[in-house]
Amino acid sequence: MKDKAVDLVWFDGQYLKWEEAKVPIFVHALHYGTAVFEGIRAYSSDDNLYIFRLKDHMQRLHKSANVYSFTTKFSVDELCNATVELIRKNAIRESCYIRPLTFVGLHGIDLNVTKNSPTHTTIIIFPFAKYFSGDGISVCISSWRRIDDDSMPPMAKASGNYLNSVLATQECRRNGYDESILLDRSGCVSEASGENLFLVRDGKLHTPQLSDSILDGITRNTAIIIAKELGYEVIERPISRTELYLAEEIFLTGTAAEIIAITRIDGNVVGDGKEGMLTKSIRENYERVVVGKSEKFMGWLTPAW
Ligand code: PMP
Repeated sequence: MKDKAVDLVWFDGQYLKWEEAKVPIFVHALHYGTAVFEGIRAYSSDDNLYIFRLKDHMQRLHKSANVYSFTTKFSVDELCNATVELIRKNAIRESCYIRPLTFVGLHGIDLNVTKNSPTHTTIIIFPFAKYFSGDGISVCISSWRRIDDDSMPPMAKASGNYLNSVLATQECRRNGYDESILLDRSGCVSEASGENLFLVRDGKLHTPQLSDSILDGITRNTAIIIAKELGYEVIERPISRTELYLAEEIFLTGTAAEIIAITRIDGNVVGDGKEGMLTKSIRENYERVVVGKSEKFMGWLTPAW
């Protein structure tokens, strides 16, 4: 989606026409990356359009804003209600992507952003299907390291962080890969440019721990809960690069990417080069959960209609 996809956006409490939602070129966020955002999906099913873990995403937006002392003028509940209302006003019934963004407005060139600095919040929606095509992707280890907590907190979903992801993505696409895996400062596996990572060894799931420069992904959390529900052990710990080459299966999790198998890493085939059994069972369960086919997890869904 590179241009107008729906009629209305939500901007600071108002429903505005897409073309009317404008900002001055001097907004702080444009110059310094002083913004936090979320990526949320809504899934069309037989009977409704379900927004997945809406409240958790809006809570994370608030937490990210807090890390940088950005004021959020709208409560989590207000943002959740605005999202539902925006879907309705745009008459969206198909699967879509929802992008809430809180950014620092006119604040000159002063870097001392405080709770008193002006902020704005917007929610943009657009129809969205698959992020990666096919059943498995080919990845490389990036020569760029993941941003580190002692310089730029990866756990805050801040716009500026994504320059690190842009560099890693540019490099991997230049070299013919679909996605890049970044190592953390100490050389352990961190995450992909926009997804968390899991691997399977001896039938157990392993994933980098929160202190390994990762975003506390909501799909990661969902995958962990589903995996445990299916009876798999999940271990959060530092993972060395070589373990990626020894893994039976590797997969990524993210709102946009959903659950996608890695079938080649740095040119090495993972497992038998196809989506593995464990990945498949977690993916299939995830796909049932998000469309409301799993009674147990209906609490994660907000019906839009
Ligand atoms: N890591 C990064 C850097 C991301 O941008 C994302 C996407 N938000 C994720 C992980 C996955 O997070 P989530 O499952 O909450 O979408």
